[in-house]
Amino acid sequence: MATKELNPFKIAQRQLKIATETLGYPDEMYQALAEPMRTLEVSLTIRMDDGGLKTFRGFRCQYNDARGPCKGGIRYHPDETVDTVKALAAWMTWKCSVVNIPLGGGKGGIICNPKEMSPGEIERLSRAYIDQVGRIIGPMKDVPAPDVYTNPQIMAWMMDEFSKLHGYNVPGVITGKPIPVGGSEGRGDATARGCVYTTREAAKKLGKDLKGATVAIQGFGNAGQYLALLMDELMGSRTVAVSDSRGGIVNMDGIDPQKIVDWKNTTGRVGGFEGTEEISNKDLLEMDVDVLMPAALENVITKDNAGDVKAKIIAEAANGPTTPDADDILYKNGNFVVPDFLCNAGGVTVSYFEGVQNAMNYYWEEDEVHQKLDKIMTRAFHDVYDAHEKHSVHMRTAAYLVAIERVVEVMKLRGML
Ligand code: NAD
Repeated sequence: MATKELNPFKIAQRQLKIATETLGYPDEMYQALAEPMRTLEVSLTIRMDDGGLKTFRGFRCQYNDARGPCKGGIRYHPDETVDTVKALAAWMTWKCSVVNIPLGGGKGGIICNPKEMSPGEIERLSRAYIDQVGRIIGPMKDVPAPDVYTNPQIMAWMMDEFSKLHGYNVPGVITGKPIPVGGSEGRGDATARGCVYTTREAAKKLGKDLKGATVAIQGFGNAGQYLALLMDELMGSRTVAVSDSRGGIVNMDGIDPQKIVDWKNTTGRVGGFEGTEEISNKDLLEMDVDVLMPAALENVITKDNAGDVKAKIIAEAANGPTTPDADDILYKNGNFVVPDFLCNAGGVTVSYFEGVQNAMNYYWEEDEVHQKLDKIMTRAFHDVYDAHEKHSVHMRTAAYLVAIERVVEVMKLRGML
């Protein structure tokens, strides 16, 4: 169980409170933004491979749809909680706003351990989820996507189930689909690519060259693997440490990004990769590197270890890796944070492109996707950086200021506030 300090929803509310106070909004404005519009809790009973029945709990939270249909991934995790889903839905609201795409925020999840389930069981669970939440989602209402331990195949099953319920193909109900099912070119690495673009802009502001810069990456799934590949390919940086849930590896001369991706995908872990030594997840976070990229789960940089973080730039691919207390410590110590909902907004931005292409039934080339993504991420970084300078606040609060002002402006124009 998360303690109150580490409850992600309490953290999301605390971050919102700090930002609304900085903006000089009255408490009633904070109250209007501090809770989700609605959260649906569902019970999902499926037939397991052994012939027995098993019941799972799932959630879909629609936090705020003032700026457009809700948008946010679906996470499969044994430790999933309704408060994690609500926090992630809040962050999606601010994320879509900070990059200025016309979408609101939502999030979903199922308490399950997909590592212990067969593909057939995962498919039945995914279809059951859509049978339940299908009534509140849709291209104009709420558009899910992948998150931790969900993937394009699961999105294809979900799109299929929703389409069956409606009697016609509805590719725009979900994003992160495989390309033949209506996915977008460039979606696979979009989150990491967006992180790399914002890290590039941060380095420019700090007068640092990323060529040859050392990088440590915590978490080696979708986001983490592409980070290693793209920091090398686009920036010429040197990944020196990576980790997954089973531990980490380090080699200060650099780890070949393609080889470690192949190794992870063959063996299921980063550990044991030739030419590297073991490192714990804790020690990886405290390494003396130029760029630290948390790309796993929440609350890994806390008040207990923030003072020991040495990286000059912390580019948060993961959602919620840093607690508010830790933020203050990092800011004081001069560690520059590219905050999660700005840094990892590349995924939702290309998801937005996917929805646009589904609506047009016309598909773009990969280059076009990359160019459009770069433009949006670069502009968003500078909007936030300008607010950080103008208000003398750290980058996370600055990102909130930019995002909240945009949501509030629309809510006021629509007469919602
Ligand atoms: P994923 O399931 O593909 O990978 C998660 C990785 O984290 C795995 O390698 C896993 O072994 C590792 N991990 C789990 N527990 C860990 C621990 N305690 N210490 C170290 N590593 C651990 O998930 P993902 O899609 O890469 O997402 C990672 C983070 O990025 C999440 O916070 C997610 O919300 C965020 N994110 C992902 C996307 C996306 O498009 N995939 C978009 C925005 C944000």
